[in-house]
Amino acid sequence: MRSHLLNDMTAERYRRSVTEGVERVANRLATTRRPFTGVTPDELAPVVSAIDLDRPLGDASAALDELEDVYLRDAVYFHSPRYLAHLNCPVVIPAVLGEAVLSAVNSSLDTWDQSAGGTLIERRLIDWTAQRIGLGPAADGVFTSGGTQSNLQALLLARQEAKTTDLAKLRIFSSECSHFSVQKSATLLGLGPEAVVSIPVDRDKRMQTVALAAELERCRAEGLVPMAVVATAGTTDFGSIDPLPEIAELAGLYETWMHVDAAYGCGLLVSPARRHLLDGIEHADSVTVDYHKSFFQPVSSSAVLVRDAATLRHATYHADYLNPRPTVEVGAPPASGGLRGSIPNQVDKSLQTTRRFDALKLWMTLRVMGADGVGQLFDEVCDLAAAGWELLAADPRYDVVVRPQLSTLVYRYIPRSVTDPVLIDRANLHARKALFASGEAVVAGTKVGGRQYLKFTLLNPETTTEDIAAVLGLIAGHAEQFLGENLVHAS
Ligand SMILES: *Cc1c(COP(=O)(O)O)cnc(C)c1O
Repeated sequence: MRSHLLNDMTAERYRRSVTEGVERVANRLATTRRPFTGVTPDELAPVVSAIDLDRPLGDASAALDELEDVYLRDAVYFHSPRYLAHLNCPVVIPAVLGEAVLSAVNSSLDTWDQSAGGTLIERRLIDWTAQRIGLGPAADGVFTSGGTQSNLQALLLARQEAKTTDLAKLRIFSSECSHFSVQKSATLLGLGPEAVVSIPVDRDKRMQTVALAAELERCRAEGLVPMAVVATAGTTDFGSIDPLPEIAELAGLYETWMHVDAAYGCGLLVSPARRHLLDGIEHADSVTVDYHKSFFQPVSSSAVLVRDAATLRHATYHADYLNPRPTVEVGAPPASGGLRGSIPNQVDKSLQTTRRFDALKLWMTLRVMGADGVGQLFDEVCDLAAAGWELLAADPRYDVVVRPQLSTLVYRYIPRSVTDPVLIDRANLHARKALFASGEAVVAGTKVGGRQYLKFTLLNPETTTEDIAAVLGLIAGHAEQFLGENLVHAS
């Protein structure tokens, strides 16, 4: 069994099995154009259940053969130009290369003595991101598992910095289009059910700052304490960007923490054409970025950045075996980047302990493609969304909600012959399901004003306007078929 351990003796074996695995996935990607096969849970579950986990195959080739049946053939492929559903991206090759390296070396980024250069690489990328945001000289941050965790940590810091320890008095303000992780975080942080104040959005799905000002004033008048204002830079459904400069001004006026959730919009940080859409983000106290959304990185790759490094102390706990205090030790690595002889233990800043070296993927990406290269890809999908909006707006079969700032389109099929909104809801839902079952394309769904809408999240630069037009044709076909059947029954 030792032969399965990766070490100097098995390096050749590792090389062979990884090469074979890479070969298979590369062939899969090269020959799979459709995003999905349409397999159902009922069809696939018996295949997975039939595997006897107590009878190993012993051999990587055999396990890869088996994997074709249980996973690879029927996976959902984000590299397909007709995968248009959620905030998932096709990944760039340098990042996948980084993934192969980081899991083989298996550094853990909690302490310097488990990572060495890995820690320094992560810190460089945190500094690089903070600089792109414009957070100033005292900024810091840490990589996380995703936007959910980044938002949780940011709000934890905001809670600890708040002007009261009476949790029942704390209020968080975010738009009605903000991500549900804001609510989830509030609950995890022990705040009351009323803690998150939902601020209405304007026609473009951006937070109404007049309403925010009124709610902040009301909060103060009622003797409550504003803990944080969460501005979303790229809402999950609409890609809308809240008015960051105005929100920053209000946060300053009411002396409250400003968090910017740029999980989706962070790609603008490297966009050669659209960086200005994030103007005002530099005023934030904390920022969430999901590189695994708009930087074309494999899951997981995310970070939380803070304006003031000192606030990260709220995540610091010590263990004698891991990161004993004081952290200043004899024999520290050479001082650089403000380390001043202390041992850089990233666990002091993180909610996690053992932690993947996800930063390496972004590092390889920047070293191979450069920031502009990534930003150009994001610009391409934003351009595509703008073209898709033109298509939808000119198409009498569809109602489209907002002209996109980023790369989502929310729309609804509206048949000429039917006016019953419930039936139209069902036709749209049916079209989405039927499309998924066909495997020809994958689109998402959401609700707008209580009505069923459909959504394209465009993150694949390979998708064309022809793909969008073709998928709209397929949706119309499925919806019409449903209406045909149901109108016959109804009459
Ligand atoms: C995706 C998203 C999140 C959550 O990020 P995960 O990486 O999925 O945990 C948070 N906020 C916004 C605006 C998002 O789009």
